[in-house]
Amino acid sequence: MFPEISRPSPHHDATVPHERRGVVFHHSVLPFDATIARMTDPASRVSYHVLIAPDGTRCTFVADAHVAWHAGVSSFRGRAGCNAFLLGLSFAGDTYAAPLTAAQLASALEWLAPRWARHGWTLEQMTDHRQIAPGRKDDLQPAEWERLHAALAARFAPPAIRG
Ligand SMILES: [Zn+2]
Repeated sequence: MFPEISRPSPHHDATVPHERRGVVFHHSVLPFDATIARMTDPASRVSYHVLIAPDGTRCTFVADAHVAWHAGVSSFRGRAGCNAFLLGLSFAGDTYAAPLTAAQLASALEWLAPRWARHGWTLEQMTDHRQIAPGRKDDLQPAEWERLHAALAARFAPPAIRG
């Protein structure tokens, strides 16, 4: 189990229940500690549900039940306003400068596992910021998205055993 700390962010909407239809993956560009400072800065107006450090440590900012402010102007499968229905998971760092670490991937799977079971998610409900805000956002780096997607598939959608 990776360590998990909590730093409640003021940047969320608790007045409408989050729909939890899937997850948007981000990278934060900034290092772990600097990202925590930004999420809790009253002036920033941004937040993720969870941030994952290169060593796998997680920091949660907003409860799953509440809307975090991570996606901005966005659209997923024809529906705008992704913050209302997709949780925000961010990897600390910049995936264009360095690949995701093995610990980051393992920690993400650990965070996702109980939610995947609870909400009945499928791979089709996983996306990244680049795909929901094309031309405006570039996270994740495409090859890193492919690595993450392969890890999700291996963990949550293993190929059926053929007899
Ligand atoms: Zn992003």
